[in-house]
Amino acid sequence: MHPIIFVSLGPGEPELITVKGLKALQAADSIFCPETHTKDGRILSRAADIMQQLAIPESNICRFPLPMSKQRTQAFNAYEQVYAEASALHLSGKKVCIVAEGDAGFYSSIYYVYEQLQANDIPVEHIAGIPAFIAAGALAGLHVASQEERLTVIPGTTTAEEIEKLIHEKSAIVIMKLSQCTDEIHRCICRHPEYSYHYFENVGTPNEKYLSDAGQIGTLRFPYFSLLIIRIDSF
Ligand code: SAH
Repeated sequence: MHPIIFVSLGPGEPELITVKGLKALQAADSIFCPETHTKDGRILSRAADIMQQLAIPESNICRFPLPMSKQRTQAFNAYEQVYAEASALHLSGKKVCIVAEGDAGFYSSIYYVYEQLQANDIPVEHIAGIPAFIAAGALAGLHVASQEERLTVIPGTTTAEEIEKLIHEKSAIVIMKLSQCTDEIHRCICRHPEYSYHYFENVGTPNEKYLSDAGQIGTLRFPYFSLLIIRIDSF
């Protein structure tokens, strides 16, 4: 029987999937793909957009709604269903993939399904992918971390003081899920206009944005698909 493959799609630009990931999708019978239902009634799925551009047949894609709220219970219910359907297809001999944006094992809640499958002795495989912050660094031509420098990745909750401390310790910083700490980022920019701020939105999509002007970044409201890299240029 075929393992259930967790395919990392990369950050948004279809060509940033790996050859291995693309081959797994092309060979799959069923591909589980998350979508979001917005408050104003729209259905969004960056993962489905990527696969459409890779010419993966829509008929092989099983979309499932993934609630975006920090309330994890609803998301876990969705994942329980994916688990049940994916494992049934696997047991009937089908080739099953489950996709995630960026890398499927980097701040990716779908990993819950991977762990459940593994715990129940269903064979799983994870195909690595390019995380958004790596694609962002490349977009801006940054050496994200160099020589002895450390790199700290913060998933959303931080303070201006914590950023100050990390920079003092000579760590470059990546902040993801920025919308969860907007005020602290704005406060940090006011206190430390001398740091280098690199702001990215929707990397690898037609709405991609890159800004390095601290004053401008300090006035933005941050959408879900945004991240910030903070460095000191003299590192
Ligand atoms: N598995 C993903 C991370 C998922 S967590 C990865 O490997 O990159 C979701 C966070 O990732 C978002 O809040 C945002 O901070 C970041 N992100 C994901 N895709 C992005 C993109 N295309 N552009 C900017 N930020 C992105």
